[in-house]
Amino acid sequence: MVRATQQADAVVVGAGLHGLSAALYLARAGMRVVVVEKDHAGRHASGANAGGVRRLGRAFPELPLAEAALKCWHRISELVDDDCGFAPAAQIKVAESEDELAALHARRERLVSCGFKHEEIIGVTALRALLPDVAPHCLGATIVHGDGHADPFRTVRAFARKACALGADLVEGSKVTGVSRANGIWTVQSTGPVFAAPLLINAAGAWGGDLAAMMGDHAPVRASALMLMITERLQPFLSPVVGAQGRALSFKQFGNGTVLIGGAYQGRANPETGTTALDMRQLARNAAAAAAIFPCMAGVRVLRGWAGIEGITPDRLPVIGPATLGGGYHLFGFSAHGFALAPITGRIIADLILNGVSDLPISEFNVLRFRTFGSTVLR
Ligand SMILES: Cc1cc2nc3c(=O)[nH]c(=O)nc-3n(C[C@H](O)[C@H](O)[C@H](O)COP(=O)(O)OP(=O)(O)OC[C@H]3O[C@@H](n4cnc5c(N)ncnc54)[C@H](O)[C@@H]3O)c2cc1C
Repeated sequence: MVRATQQADAVVVGAGLHGLSAALYLARAGMRVVVVEKDHAGRHASGANAGGVRRLGRAFPELPLAEAALKCWHRISELVDDDCGFAPAAQIKVAESEDELAALHARRERLVSCGFKHEEIIGVTALRALLPDVAPHCLGATIVHGDGHADPFRTVRAFARKACALGADLVEGSKVTGVSRANGIWTVQSTGPVFAAPLLINAAGAWGGDLAAMMGDHAPVRASALMLMITERLQPFLSPVVGAQGRALSFKQFGNGTVLIGGAYQGRANPETGTTALDMRQLARNAAAAAAIFPCMAGVRVLRGWAGIEGITPDRLPVIGPATLGGGYHLFGFSAHGFALAPITGRIIADLILNGVSDLPISEFNVLRFRTFGSTVLR
């Protein structure tokens, strides 16, 4: 059967937050955009994450993007007509030893020497005033004011709704199986329609390496099943989001009293089926890390655990920028911290397409940095 080809100005592969952000900004610029998604919008990392919007502890090359994105988060309704459940909150990283405190000071000095002043060091008295239930052995912390968190699935829905309201077409349940380029046009084969457009944006998350290979580029992305768990409701005892310098931990209490516990502990991902399995030993390690920092958590009931498939790159930096072949762009591999950047990444792609340049520094995210790596997809 010969299927009709759907024409567009741009095809975006992947309806996670980054693909939807790209679609939104391109549609806002008047382009005919089709977003092709193999499952449904927000099915993977974008709908399953912890919703953390943080600059604290972020890799230096990402900080200009995180700062620009943060400005958007504080006015997110202007972008997507919904507040996405965004709540400003301090982010704190506690030190449990003098060595850890020294490492926090050293990072702050490096940040300040590069012009970033958002991380401040607080001593034990200020730490206890902010976190009365923190374990007695904690000595101090880094704090960042003005970061926050949002509701992931509500955010996905808001970005999808706004992109579609601006004219983007969202095609769910269609897996892209091959792409080719001839005479300046990308032809995109899928299990549903065939699409043709001069522009192709790879926003395929953990599958971004597969798409990159189809587009003639090389990106060793590992699919990882990052886990989270949520507890029963507790009396309010915490408003900042808390992590630890010496342990993998991300910890926050919601307004309804439940506590979300994470820290990038890994279950098992099956990228072929798009499914995950929890690893109870790793979840137990995560719970132990939480109880070490907040002894009041020992004995608290965990109600639910889940995992989301995320694409991790070897240097844990995303791939953002042009593909080798003209009209192709990459936007994937956010390595467990991409939720916070979503309001800005679509603007970057739109700027590259419309103006040939972004006003944010993105050279370190170029796909060509992986030329020396071996296999395309590490799993
Ligand atoms: C448990 C967990 C906690 C996290 N916590 C945070 C946090 O607190 N703060 C933060 O900033 N980040 C966090 N992250 C990371 C963040 O969720 C991701 O970086 C971000 O959502 C990635 O978005 P994406 O659009 O690149 O990928 P995805 O959301 O995975 O979207 C990619 C989409 O592409 C589709 N796709 C792939 N291949 C094809 C194909 N061939 N054809 C059609 N469609 C295709 C997939 O089905 C998928 O829906 C967390 C992640 C997880 C898993």
